[in-house]
Amino acid sequence: MKSVAILGGGISGLSAAYYLACLSPRTCITLFESSSRLGGWIQTTTTNGVKFELGPRTLRPEENAVQLLRQLHLQDQVVKISKSHPAAQNRFIWYKDRLCKLPHSLASIILNYKMPVLAGLASVFLEPFQPRSNLEDQSLHDFISRRFDPRIASNLVSAVIGGVYAGDTTKLSVRSTFPSLWNYEREHGSVIKGMLKATSKTIQGFEDTSIYSFKDGMQTLPDRLTETLRNISTVDIKTSTEVKHIARSFSGIDVNGKSFSHVISAFPCLSQARLVPCFPRLPTVSVHVINLYYSTENLVPVDGFGYLVPSSEPNPECLLGVIFDSAIFPGGTKLTIMMGGYHYDTVDRIPDDEQVTRRSLAVIKQQLGIKRQPDIINISYHKDCIPQYHVGYWKKMKETHGRILEEYDGRLSVIGNSVAGVGINDCIRGAKTMVENLAKGNRIT
Ligand code: FAD
Repeated sequence: MKSVAILGGGISGLSAAYYLACLSPRTCITLFESSSRLGGWIQTTTTNGVKFELGPRTLRPEENAVQLLRQLHLQDQVVKISKSHPAAQNRFIWYKDRLCKLPHSLASIILNYKMPVLAGLASVFLEPFQPRSNLEDQSLHDFISRRFDPRIASNLVSAVIGGVYAGDTTKLSVRSTFPSLWNYEREHGSVIKGMLKATSKTIQGFEDTSIYSFKDGMQTLPDRLTETLRNISTVDIKTSTEVKHIARSFSGIDVNGKSFSHVISAFPCLSQARLVPCFPRLPTVSVHVINLYYSTENLVPVDGFGYLVPSSEPNPECLLGVIFDSAIFPGGTKLTIMMGGYHYDTVDRIPDDEQVTRRSLAVIKQQLGIKRQPDIINISYHKDCIPQYHVGYWKKMKETHGRILEEYDGRLSVIGNSVAGVGINDCIRGAKTMVENLAKGNRIT
C-alpha cells in the first residue's frame, strides 16, 4: 500500500488530503502541521462574543471550491452576497483625501470618466490599437502603462493589487499574477478584445453571487475538512508536529526520519525553501490586520465593501485598505484595517502594537470621521504571509519544478500559495489538480 505525507495543514494541505483520500481510499495519508490548529492563514476568532477574521474573509464563486463545499455539505453555512448588494456594487479608493467610488460597469465608466481618480480611463478605447509586445514578462505597472495609461496603473491597479497581494505593482509580474490579462494580449492582441470575447462560467446556485463567506466565519471550511479527514481511517493528522527534515531515501522520501512513497509539500514558501533546498526563497510581505468593533451601528459614512489606497497617495501610515465587515455581517460597526505589505519594505522599523493602534484610530478618524474609541480592537501581525510573484517568477518556477522532479525522482510535489496563486480558490484548485495528475500517473494509487 502506498503512503503519502502531506506537509502543512493550511487550506492547500487539507484539500490535498481530502482529494487524495477520495481518489485513492487505500493510500495511507499522514498530514504534518507544526501548529496546534489547522487552517493556516484562515483564522476566525471570537472576542467578547464578536467574530473576527484574522486572515481571508470572502471568496468569489469558483467551480472547484464550490464543488468542495458541496461535497462537505456546507451549503447551509454559506452566506452569499448578491451582485446587487452594496458590498458588491460599492468599492472605493482613497484618492486626494476623499473616498472615490469605483465604476462597476462600462456605463458607469462612461458616466464618470471625468472623475480625477479615473484619469486615463479613456485609454480603454485606444487599447485595442496598441501594438502587441514580444516581452517574456513585465511588471503589472509597466504592462498597464503600456497598454492603457500610467495613471490607471498608479491610481487604480496599484490599489486593487494592494488589496490582494499587498505588493508593489512595479515589481509584481503581470504574467504570474494576472495571467488572463497577459494571455489576452498574446492571443487577441488586446486586453479589451480578450475581455469581450471571454465567457464567464456560471456556477449553479451561485449565479447571482458576487462573493460569499460562512455564517460562523471562514474557519468553517478548514474545520469541516479536518472533521471529515479525522473520520477517515487511512488519514492520520499530526498537529504540533514540525517537519524538520525531508530527504530522498532508498525506497521513497523520509520526513522526520519516516519513509513515505510520495510527499506533497503544502508549506508556505519560506518553509518550502528551507526544507526543499532547490525551492527558491521567494520575496514575501508581512501585513498587520487590525479588527475594530463598535457596538453602535452604521458609523461608516458610505455603504459598500471598503476602500483601498493607491501607490500614488502619500501614505505615512502604510495603509493598504479598510474593509467594512459590517456591510456583510450586520450587528454593530465592524471594520478591518490592513496595514503594511510592500510599504514595510521601506520603513526602518515595523511599528509596534501601540503605534499600530494610534495609526489605525487616526486613519479611521481622518478618513471615515469616526472619532469614538472602538469597544474592541484586535491586532495581528502576519509575518511573511503573502509570497510575491515578481517579474520572472514563471521562469524561476519552471526551473524549480524541473529540479524537484530530478532531485526527488518525481516523489515530491509542491502546492500552496507560493506555487498555485495566492487566493483560497487557487490553493484548492492547485491541490485538486495536483492530486488528480498524480492519480493519473499512477504515482499514489
Ligand atoms: P498556509 O495557510 O500558510 O498553510 C501552511 C501551513 O503549513 C501552516 O498551517 C503552517 O503552520 C504549516 N507549516 C509551515 N512550516 C511547517 C513545518 N516546518 N512543519 C509543519 N507545518 C508547517 N485569499 C482569498 O481567497 N480571499 C481573501 O479574502 C484573502 N484574504 C487574505 C488576508 C490575509 C491577511 C492573508 C494573510 C491572506 C489572505 N488570502 C485571501 C490568501 C489566503 O488566505 C492564503 O493564500 C491561503 O490561506 C494559503 O493557504 P496555504 O495552505 O497554501 O498556506
